[in-house]
Amino acid sequence: MNKEAVLKQYFGYDAFRPLQAEIIDTILGKKDCLVLMPTGGGKSICYQVPAMVLPGITVVISPLIALMKDQVQALKANGIEAAYINSTLNTSEQNAILKDCESGKIKIIYVSPEKIFASGFLAFLHTLPVNLFAVDESHCVSFWGHDFRPEYTQLSILKESFPEVPVVALTATADKVTRKDILQQLDIAEAKVFIASFDRPNLSLTVLQGRNRMKAIHEFLLKHPNQPGIVYCLSRKSTESVAAKLNELGYKTKYYHAGMDNDERSTVQDEFLKDDVQIIVATIAFGMGIDKSNVRWVIHYNIPKNVESYYQEIGRAGRDGLPSDTVLFYSYADVMMQMDFNEKASPERKELLNAKLDRMKQYATSDICRRRVLLSYFNESIDTDCGNCDVCKNPRTKFDGTILAQKALSAIARTNEKVALGLLIDILRGSYRHEITAKGYQQLKTFGTGKDIRYEEWVDYIYQMLNLGIMDIAYDEGHVFKLNSTSWQVLKENRPVQLSAFVPFSERKAAVVEA
Ligand code: ADP
Ligand code: ZN
Repeated sequence: MNKEAVLKQYFGYDAFRPLQAEIIDTILGKKDCLVLMPTGGGKSICYQVPAMVLPGITVVISPLIALMKDQVQALKANGIEAAYINSTLNTSEQNAILKDCESGKIKIIYVSPEKIFASGFLAFLHTLPVNLFAVDESHCVSFWGHDFRPEYTQLSILKESFPEVPVVALTATADKVTRKDILQQLDIAEAKVFIASFDRPNLSLTVLQGRNRMKAIHEFLLKHPNQPGIVYCLSRKSTESVAAKLNELGYKTKYYHAGMDNDERSTVQDEFLKDDVQIIVATIAFGMGIDKSNVRWVIHYNIPKNVESYYQEIGRAGRDGLPSDTVLFYSYADVMMQMDFNEKASPERKELLNAKLDRMKQYATSDICRRRVLLSYFNESIDTDCGNCDVCKNPRTKFDGTILAQKALSAIARTNEKVALGLLIDILRGSYRHEITAKGYQQLKTFGTGKDIRYEEWVDYIYQMLNLGIMDIAYDEGHVFKLNSTSWQVLKENRPVQLSAFVPFSERKAAVVEA
């Protein structure tokens, strides 16, 4: 059967979404690929269709054990023979499934990473006609991703022991550094990389100062009568207290966190799905695998730990494509709290977590179109401001920052892309501190050319430049700045750079929540 027929017969769809057909053709051509598509974008079809077109069996590696059962049930409901193997099954259940694999009954098998490395399992796979490996949530292989799982790091063994079998790595959240690492870790350097757009124009983006949050939420809810929504909080305790306050205000609200038992959690989930409950106040434990298309708003009571998580969480709103609102409360105290959490990590990990948190903080305090910031984080850019974020609705004075950008970029170029934020600014401001003189940076042509601008202003402008996508940052190389093709356009072709004039965050006018 060809791919179109499979799509129609098993999934009931008439046409592929953007990129799906190309990805499937690449897989059918036995080439590796990396697929970056937002949640709900349609990643599963990309390996499920080849699984049905090709003879043999497709092996899906997924760390989300809790979701495997649902995924398998959904496939079976579509008439596809699928099964899963993980620690939730006992030995005889597992053996029965292995038998079904051997007899050629099963077309798609979901496996936990632990199982892949369990003794004898790879040898067993060698007895099967494996046609494809799909590594779902593949950002987990990367130390630079936001959900690193050490057990995922040995997956290069797939390519090593099955060099002929194509590997498709899929993820909804991977910045540039993480993507590079996925290719390396899975040993699929030649993989074709497919990046779907992450733009969700139907989501409004608003950041509010984290003061009087309950009052602001109440005002927001008055403008969103009866609309289902999610409030994300950092701690279990605060989910409970915020939920209590919302109930007092008369909103049907339940809380949800990992400290509740499974039954309680699935009851709450069901009530929300059926619209018996309007609001869920939850920790990040809520949302994985929940398919509710009419969530009209998402509020972050506290700042999330990184942009990837934030994007995933706001992405639970407006899956039906209708206008939906997102609000993030920002306070420095919350940033400090997240930094405290990060203290527990190893020194190297801590540095990364803090850098990611810093990007999140920059998003919250930035003065350029928030959608631009968000998309540039995923290395995507849009040509115009979005008009659907609080920055666009309350614009700050802009100025021609081309020369400033050229100074910064040229300093990056002249130091061979080896400087991080502090050093870069010190070069621009002409500091003679030891590290600069030791490296001879005082002799650079750009040394001191940015003397007239204060340190914290430079920080603001450089983050604006980063958020505009005219430079990149390499977490895996000590957070040094890197030039990209846009950087060279600015440097060589005078591509104009509009910056927002510096205003300390504390002095900025609080944005207004629109109805
Ligand atoms: P992801 O894994 O990227 O989060 P899914 O694979 O679960 O997304 O797909 C999200 C939804 O989109 C599912 O309901 C799926 O059936 C649907 N979908 C995927 N591809 C198509 C298509 N070509 N046409 C219509 N609907 C599709
Ligand atoms: Zn905007």
